[in-house]
Amino acid sequence: MVIITIDLQCITKRFGNYVAIDGVDLRIAEGELVALLGPSGSGKTTLLRIIAGLEVPDTGTVLLGGEDALQRHMRHRQVGFVFQHYSLFRHMTVFANVAFGLRVRPRRQRPSEAEIAERVHRLLHLVQLDELADHYPSQLSGGQRQRTALARSLAIEPRILLLDEPFGALDAKVRKELRRWLRRLHETMRITSVFVTHDQEEALELADRIVLMNQGRIEQVGAPAEVYRAPASPFVSEFLGDINRIECLIEGGQVYVTGGGAPLGSVPAGYSGAAVIYVRPHDIELMPVTFPADGGGTVRYLHEVGPIVRAEVDYAGALLDVVLPESEQTERPLRVGNGVDVRIRRGFVFPKGAGKQAEPMRLAPYRGGGPRAIAGPPLGLS
Ligand code: ATP
Repeated sequence: MVIITIDLQCITKRFGNYVAIDGVDLRIAEGELVALLGPSGSGKTTLLRIIAGLEVPDTGTVLLGGEDALQRHMRHRQVGFVFQHYSLFRHMTVFANVAFGLRVRPRRQRPSEAEIAERVHRLLHLVQLDELADHYPSQLSGGQRQRTALARSLAIEPRILLLDEPFGALDAKVRKELRRWLRRLHETMRITSVFVTHDQEEALELADRIVLMNQGRIEQVGAPAEVYRAPASPFVSEFLGDINRIECLIEGGQVYVTGGGAPLGSVPAGYSGAAVIYVRPHDIELMPVTFPADGGGTVRYLHEVGPIVRAEVDYAGALLDVVLPESEQTERPLRVGNGVDVRIRRGFVFPKGAGKQAEPMRLAPYRGGGPRAIAGPPLGLS
């Protein structure tokens, strides 16, 4: 099997006046599994179709294995494509569906029936459908149909594999199973693969790298842990994972919630004015306080869900979602209505209204020590 790179340079695509892809540059390494993730309409499918040759870009270059793919018809790009809706031939068995791409080859390139049977059985074994070779698509579950579609796309020995929301039509449990299964399959085959999803969990769990798209552009590219831990823009912060978005004000490097109260932390000096803090629910620490100081937090809601506790805390008018391990609730029990000290372990601050170019400011936790000294509302706040 040949493993190749995918190189997209300055890709632009318009539909009428609408810019669906706006100057995209992306290099995908040999054997990588990359997720295109973004909200509906962000251009993920269009980009995938451009790689496949189903769509022609207005400008830019597509290199597959270093070769100019735009000069090649889709048929010659050797691309395996899996669509969201199984697109199997209903009148053909699983075996015939998988064999199809080989049987329609011109006579000279067509393997013998014995070779086709050998290859199809090998693939059916790989996707764990050996037993169902004689079944028709109507006799299969959704997950089995999608695995058949995948085996069919692999039968032609593609140089790259493209998947458009491959598990989109399946229920949550089957999706999860297929996800793990695809990951294992990819580890076996190491074929350069790109899949489109709007499910962040799917992207985080499956991909080597995630490409976050927004309005036809790439906002950030990185390993799952990297984009999750260090979002490069307000868009990525809000799109990826549960997060608190807190309106704040920066004065002299101190970060105050807009409603007032004690500072939540500090940022390197330089910026003053309105800003937004992004902080994940599990990056907030709560300490019950016996004598709630004015300007601290108050627990508004508590809910135990198995190993975690979800809390909602009112902090100077801002509602914070907090997730704590259940063990912490046993050691330092929180009660609804009680006061809490709020400490942010990790957070990112962007100037309000910041676009893609803004660098996030890392929030350093407030280190007042002991009982927190409560500052009055900062200048300009009432
Ligand atoms: P979804 O998750 O909803 O599938 P997406 O991120 O894959 O969204 P695309 O399907 O790439 O988005 O579409 C990007 C934009 O381009 C959308 O606004 C869509 O309406 C528009 N678009 C896509 N294909 C066409 C077309 N053939 N003609 C006109 N507009 C199109």
